[in-house]
Amino acid sequence: MIDLKSNTMEELKQRMEEWGEPAFRAKQIFQWMHKGATRFEEMTNLSKALREKLEQTCYLTAPVVERKQVSQQDGTIKYLWRLRDGNCVETVLLRYQYGNTVCISSQIGCRMGCAFCASTLGGLVRNLSASEILDQVLFTQIDSGLPISNIVLMGIGEPLDNFDAVMRFLTLVNHPDGMNIGMRHISLSTCGLTEKIDKLAHYRLQLTLSVSLHAPDDETRSRIMPVNRNYGVQAVFDACRRYFVQTGRRVSYEYAMIDGVNDSDEQADLLVQWLKGTPGHVNLIPLNYVEERELKPSRRVSAFQKRLESQGVTATVRRKLGSDIDASCGQLRRKHLKGQESKAISRMD
Ligand code: SAH
Repeated sequence: MIDLKSNTMEELKQRMEEWGEPAFRAKQIFQWMHKGATRFEEMTNLSKALREKLEQTCYLTAPVVERKQVSQQDGTIKYLWRLRDGNCVETVLLRYQYGNTVCISSQIGCRMGCAFCASTLGGLVRNLSASEILDQVLFTQIDSGLPISNIVLMGIGEPLDNFDAVMRFLTLVNHPDGMNIGMRHISLSTCGLTEKIDKLAHYRLQLTLSVSLHAPDDETRSRIMPVNRNYGVQAVFDACRRYFVQTGRRVSYEYAMIDGVNDSDEQADLLVQWLKGTPGHVNLIPLNYVEERELKPSRRVSAFQKRLESQGVTATVRRKLGSDIDASCGQLRRKHLKGQESKAISRMD
């Protein structure tokens, strides 16, 4: 069976041609899928024969709300979606003044192993398909009734570790006959897979690249991000410089502030050194406490910020949203899995 929503417009056109259908059918099907049609029956402007053929050869992904939490504090909505194969994935809708933003996942689980992150605790289960990544934007908009204008690929998973599906997703979500979300309204966050950053730069997309730096020295970074043993700080900054040269887009660096680990004045100064000569913006993130982790949030966030700014580096502190609903970093899926485990254990008793 074909996962039809993962097809690009060009692939759909080709498929229609092979099936002896007129080319405009591709556009009709694309539009239905990107409006959130969940069954081919709904596509009433297609011939009955074509609908039947689609039914027999293709399927449409349609995630189901497994859990939904709405923050009483700031209106953040967190979804746990159940996918076709029973796996669950998280999406968060953040309501900023400049527009509604969805934070979407790119994989089920993650294999990067960062010491502060809940998403990686159970390892990688599988990659998401382009349609499953798109569905998070589409069905969050449909379910919430709130128009979505911005996307951040900062949910569960490492987007550049699922490169092809993520690129395909970007093509789909950007398409004028689909959700038509502009590249400048999309951010992609990576732990710093440098070859993939180079590969992405090649496409010269106007999206914002965010790099999870979290430490300016290899010793600290390798301790909290195992990926640094393969792609060290120097390699990451080199790749970011090339990215800027290729795309003209300023890279943004994420820096989760961890008590006594990466929040010293020396580390702030070292970060300033790295950023000399390459335009970049630092986003300081107050560490979200994760039950299973020993790391604690830093108490030096504003001192660190001031030290960067006084040396000419722009640094903002990310506002915390949805903290009453576990709206961060794989926490809901984690809770859900733990709930299932304890159910399984009690069943065994
Ligand atoms: N794999 C990608 C995107 C997902 S994580 C990446 O590494 O960038 C999105 C951001 O949240 C990353 O910067 C990640 O390091 C950060 N993050 C993960 N756990 C966190 C926590 N407990 N507190 C604060 N930020 C966290």
